[in-house]
Amino acid sequence: RAKRAGNGIHVFYSQEMNQRSLELLKLESDLRRAVERNELSLHFQPQLALANGSIRGAEVLLRWNRPGVGPVSPAQFIPVAEETGLIASIGEWVIDATCRQIAAWRAAGLPQVRFAVNLSARQFSANLPQAILNTLARYAVPADALELEITESMLMSGTEEVLVMMQELGDAGIHLSLDDFGTGYSSLSYLKRLPIDTLKIDRSFVHGIPDDADNSAIARAIIGLAKNLRLTVIAEGVETVEQLAFLEAAGCDEIQGFYFSRPLPADEFAALLRRHSV
Ligand code: C2E
Ligand code: MG
Ligand code: MG
Ligand code: MG
Repeated sequence: RAKRAGNGIHVFYSQEMNQRSLELLKLESDLRRAVERNELSLHFQPQLALANGSIRGAEVLLRWNRPGVGPVSPAQFIPVAEETGLIASIGEWVIDATCRQIAAWRAAGLPQVRFAVNLSARQFSANLPQAILNTLARYAVPADALELEITESMLMSGTEEVLVMMQELGDAGIHLSLDDFGTGYSSLSYLKRLPIDTLKIDRSFVHGIPDDADNSAIARAIIGLAKNLRLTVIAEGVETVEQLAFLEAAGCDEIQGFYFSRPLPADEFAALLRRHSV
């Protein structure tokens, strides 16, 4: 009986998996064409400095308008891009489009803030630093207009090579931040060795603050750690005024989240930045 049940389950799963792998295959072939068909775009989510309420920068978030489907979340397609190697060309597109946008906004006289691009571990290759520096130069964008968000897992899996590349990027004047901080299995010792400027407290720890005692304690501890290491600390996923008040009182430098603004299309972000800085 157990065996029959086992077989039944087996058949059920393999049908489901067939369906899933077909969808994955289709997703992959659609994604392969996304760059050339101009289906990718960038959204910008402002980051607010709590000291003076100014917009100190924005995180650049990739969007894919998939034909016949509509907007697809990067949480869905970035993993596929990583598995298939498409992340190389997509990542290149993101850096290029970001620098092009920064140059256009600077030429238009917009306040000069910094833009933070997410990097994927799979994107790290020996020529990445030079490729990024070349793109900055091509658009005449200064290195300190760019920030790169990396994750703990990237560092932990990373070899000495990754550290050297990060050092190169940092030395060139590009800001580096550690995204989703606290979710990885980090040995905190590397924080001292790395050219990191900013810690980003992961959204999962901001959730439920201030009622959630554990998360409140974790957020406070990360802020303390950042202060002691003289790093800037930003909280992501801030949705309520209560979270904001707690973080501000705890000494957090910056916030990012729906409370202030969702990620915005380029023109809306530009309008907000202009309005906010008068
Ligand atoms: P992330 O880097 O941690 O980005 C923050 C995510 O939290 C974004 O999701 C943002 O829209 C969302 N978020 C911001 N504020 C709030 C809030 O107050 N509440 C809630 N519930 N969510 C908030 P998004 O845009 O869907 O991106 C998901 C992830 O996809 C990113 O997480 C990042 O890991 C990855 N990603 C996005 N763009 C790129 C890219 O250009 N390259 C790479 N490699 N990864 C990217
Ligand atoms: Mg990020
Ligand atoms: Mg994040
Ligand atoms: Mg996160």
